[in-house]
Amino acid sequence: MNLTRRDFTRLGALGLAARFAHGLNAQTTAPKTRYAVIGLGRIASHFLPAAGSTTNSQITGLVSGHRDKADRIAAQYNVPAGSIYNYENFDEIAKNPNIDAVYVALPNSMHAEYTIRAAKAGKHVLCEKPMSTTVAEAKAMIAACKAANVKLMIAYRCHYEPTNLRAVKLIRDGALGQVQAIESSFGFNIKAGEWRINKKLAGGGPLYDVGIYSLNACRYLTGEEPAQIAAFASTIDHDGRFDEVEENVSWTMKFPSGIVASCATTYGANMAGYYKVYGSKGWLQVDQAFVYEGLRLRAEYQGTKLDELNPARDPSHFVAEAEHFSHCVQNGLEPQSPGEEGLRDMGYITEIYKSAGIKI
Ligand code: NDP
Repeated sequence: MNLTRRDFTRLGALGLAARFAHGLNAQTTAPKTRYAVIGLGRIASHFLPAAGSTTNSQITGLVSGHRDKADRIAAQYNVPAGSIYNYENFDEIAKNPNIDAVYVALPNSMHAEYTIRAAKAGKHVLCEKPMSTTVAEAKAMIAACKAANVKLMIAYRCHYEPTNLRAVKLIRDGALGQVQAIESSFGFNIKAGEWRINKKLAGGGPLYDVGIYSLNACRYLTGEEPAQIAAFASTIDHDGRFDEVEENVSWTMKFPSGIVASCATTYGANMAGYYKVYGSKGWLQVDQAFVYEGLRLRAEYQGTKLDELNPARDPSHFVAEAEHFSHCVQNGLEPQSPGEEGLRDMGYITEIYKSAGIKI
C-alpha cells in the first residue's frame, strides 16, 4: 500500500505509524538480526525464506528434533553445524554469539517453555500465536523476557499486512461512519492425528489456532477491548478427532462503544477467514483476511465503491513481520504486537471458554 506522508502523520496520531515505518525508512544500512528457528514445521517453512529475503534479518541457527531435516535446511541457509541444536541441548544457544533472536514455531504448549529458555539464554523472542495455552504461562513469558531485558513479539502477522491495515485506516478515518457490528469467522476441516487436536499440545481447539484471528481482528478493527463476552461450543462429529478438544466455537463480544462482534471458528468445516464491518455510512469486507495471499477488500461507503485484490504473494506477511521485529531489536523499540497483546487474547480466550462451559 502506498501511504503519503500526510497519511503517515494521521496514522501516527492513531498509534499505527510504526507499522508502516519500514516503507518510509528503508533499512538498507541496518545490521542483520540473526535468528534461530525453533521447530522446523509448516510455519517455519514460510518464515525461513522470508527472513532470508529481508535486508535486516538472517537465519543463523536451527533447533529441531530431527537432525536430518535440520541438516538439509542448514545447507539451504548456510547455517553451520555448530549452530544446530535439539530440544535437549537448546540452552547451549546462550554461548552462541551468532544468534540474537529465536523464532518459536512449535506446538502451542511448547511456546512458554522455549520463550523462557531463550530469554534466559539472552536471546530476543518472536513467538508464534497463540502466545501460550494459559494466561499464567503468558505472564511468565513476559516476566522472563523483561527480566532478561530481551524483546518479546507475538507473530500476529496481520498487524503488519497492508490489506488489514487498510481496513483499519478506513475505519479510523470514519469512512464507514459509526461502526455498529462486525462478523468474522475462520476454520477448516482438520485431519485426524494432528497435534492441534491433542489438548496437551494445543491447549484447546480451533479458537486457539484459527479463531484467534477473528478475535484479534475485532480488537484491531475497533481499537477497543471487549467489555462483555458470550459463547457457545459444540462437537458434532464423534469420529475420534474431538475426544480432547471441541469442534465448534461461536462467540459474541460487546465493545465499550456498543459495537457488537459475532465470530465463529471450527475444525469441522472449511470456513474461509473473513470479516465484514457494518457502519452507519457503509460497510467493508476483507475476504481471505487471515491467509498468506489473495486478500481482497471490498467496501461501499458514502458514494465510494472499492474492490481491491492484494497482489502480494506468500511469504510477504512473514517478511514484514521479520523486518519489524528485527527493526525493534536493533533500535531498542517495543514491537507493535508485544507479549502483552498475546496475553490479552489469552485472557479473552479464557473468558470465551468459560462462557461456553469448557474447562481449559
Ligand atoms: P507443525 O506441526 O507443522 O510444526 C511444528 C514443529 O514443531 C514440528 O515440525 C517439529 O519440528 C516441532 N515439534 C516439537 N515437538 C513436537 C511435537 N510434540 N509434536 C509436533 N511437533 C513438534 O506446526 P505448525 O508449523 O503448523 O504450527 C506451529 C506453530 O505456529 C503453532 O503454534 C501454530 O499455531 C502457529 N502457526 C501460525 C501461523 C501463522 O500464520 N502465524 C500458521 C500456522 C501455524 P522438528 O521436527 O524440527 O522438531
